[in-house]
Amino acid sequence: MKYFANLRMIACILALIGGWLIYPYSVVAAGVLCIIAILCFPYALLPHAMVVKVLLIAAITGVTYYLESYPKHLGEDQAVITFLDVGQGDCSIIELPDGTVILIDGGTMDYGETVCAWLAEHHINQIDLMIGSHPHADHIGGLSEVVNRVKVSTYIEPETGTFEIPDTYSITLLKRRLSEHAIPVIRAVQGDVLAKGEDWSLTVLSPGKEALFDDLNDYSLILKLQYGSVSALFTGDAGYTAELEILEENLKSDILKVGHHGSFGSTCTAFLDSVRPSYAVISVGKDNEHHLPNSYILERLDTYGVNVYRTDESGTITMRTDGQHIEVSRLEDNLAN
Ligand SMILES: [Zn+2]
Ligand SMILES: [Zn+2]
Repeated sequence: MKYFANLRMIACILALIGGWLIYPYSVVAAGVLCIIAILCFPYALLPHAMVVKVLLIAAITGVTYYLESYPKHLGEDQAVITFLDVGQGDCSIIELPDGTVILIDGGTMDYGETVCAWLAEHHINQIDLMIGSHPHADHIGGLSEVVNRVKVSTYIEPETGTFEIPDTYSITLLKRRLSEHAIPVIRAVQGDVLAKGEDWSLTVLSPGKEALFDDLNDYSLILKLQYGSVSALFTGDAGYTAELEILEENLKSDILKVGHHGSFGSTCTAFLDSVRPSYAVISVGKDNEHHLPNSYILERLDTYGVNVYRTDESGTITMRTDGQHIEVSRLEDNLAN
């Protein structure tokens, strides 16, 4: 009798502890364990044989929980998206399982060396697509150094129509380098599929063919990467005006590179409502003079329950996916390993 009382007590305590641990991850599993705890209570009017059955249910609940919520190991064919820390600027590198490498932006000129060093460290000596989201120095500045050091197959820039682009040093130098290395330049518009593989594609959502914006930022290429059932949206510095023009597009994405370094002029509610990302990355410099990211945008992302990662806090952020699940690691995690 005493043996069974002890068994009930142990089962009751285990179920309570289990329920408490599982609660943040699965309310249903926690509820089942709570009921089990009540049934196992030493003074519960339960036949002894039932205790064994209840323990069996507890074990099944535990195993189910483990299988459902334990971080799954990604499959072999992984796509890796790296949001490289380039201070106040943008730089995303996409490596696809078939070996295709896509570089979107390269930070300011000061960070060209950082991008090249990262590529060398990762044994990348060819870039299939180099994309300048829009010709601002904090996006294309570093690309001219990359063109000099790495073989680039094609350069993609947005179609800016009749918009007068100022002749900055970053633009002049990049144009010169692209021409010196005879790299073809393609102007992209909405609907273009920039590249695709067996189970992935990179599509242009903005700017539209007839787009007319007052701000060069709004001409930023908004790109959607789809790999299996996982998608990521790269937005450059596009603001509300550009975001609102593409609400009809299939914006839903698991990962969002937040527009314009988290400034108040981007990531409007309607846009976020359509994208509904699980993860967001803000590429931003530490203590930057523009005080980015904007606190309202952080609040907005928080309201939508988005897991936000910032390069100013975490350094380089890496997202791996097998087309089903996503694993995030930050520089600080890698340093800890
Ligand atoms: Zn920018
Ligand atoms: Zn810009």
